[in-house]
Amino acid sequence: MWAMVFERAGRPLERRELPPPRPAAGQVLLRVQACGVCRTDLHIVDGELPAAKVPLVPGHQIVATVEATGPEVSSLGLGDRVGVPWLGWTDGTCRYCLSGQENLCDEARFTGYHLDGGYAELAVADARFCFPIPAGTPDLQAAPLLCAGLIGFRALRLAGDGRALGFYGFGSAAHILTQVARAEGREVFAFTRPGDDRSQAFARELGATWAGSTADAAPTALDAAIIFAPAGELVPLALRAVRKGGTVVCAGIHMSDIPSFPYQILWEERVLRSVANLTRRDGQEFLALAPRVPVRTEVEAFPLESANEALAALRSGRLRGSAVLAVAPRERQT
Ligand SMILES: [Zn+2]
Ligand SMILES: [Zn+2]
Repeated sequence: MWAMVFERAGRPLERRELPPPRPAAGQVLLRVQACGVCRTDLHIVDGELPAAKVPLVPGHQIVATVEATGPEVSSLGLGDRVGVPWLGWTDGTCRYCLSGQENLCDEARFTGYHLDGGYAELAVADARFCFPIPAGTPDLQAAPLLCAGLIGFRALRLAGDGRALGFYGFGSAAHILTQVARAEGREVFAFTRPGDDRSQAFARELGATWAGSTADAAPTALDAAIIFAPAGELVPLALRAVRKGGTVVCAGIHMSDIPSFPYQILWEERVLRSVANLTRRDGQEFLALAPRVPVRTEVEAFPLESANEALAALRSGRLRGSAVLAVAPRERQT
């Protein structure tokens, strides 16, 4: 099978022919239709997340069909369409797993980081961590739901149920969550890089009440803010923008250092927190919710061999919506 392989930080992914993976007990062999490109992939390629296995096939927003099942798999059958998310395996026995916080599992293994992912024609995955994909959502449009949508959804829930939400960084996750927040009757205030008029226009098209630059003052006090951009300097900006008791959620896995800030902007019970990974329950809830909103993802498709171009497009901030590798997408769903 062909795959795009990460070998060393700072080097482009290499196109290689690899032996097809074999499903072990509990695993399924998957034919990849599409794989979303996430900012986390960029952090891995850039060496900002140093624990990645090497060589590694990145990619943790996989839409695929089951091609074969390993021993002891009864939950999935041949031809089933599934999504594979970032959370690829947990021990099921640590204090976090036992308390409903498997996203924090001490031994968690993540797809496209500790485990080979979906920048390839074939992949294997633990059947227990595969999700059914909503019928009627095409492969390419479904892929961004699996991380941008799903971990974004967890961030949205952790932000609380306030009405006025600030989104810092308007990429894959924010374009999905704007649709969810609007369906919940909330208002979205979108902050982009200064001068990024296209993303601001995109935010307004999706129903944002206001869109402007991170250099602008918020037009109203926010109930909560979610920071998607990996820029620590946004944390004090967001804290200043939220009302008393408001929450700021950092949604990324990596962020540049946060500059020091006066205690006064945290005072009055403002909360600053991160969101890490996902639980399978987040996935089930979000994938049930998405078609009801309905979430329509806007994607820019790249062939598998253009994964480096897709990563470059993400880095440049010029994407509208989500980048997705079109490995072998089917036009129509049955
Ligand atoms: Zn991701
Ligand atoms: Zn655990």
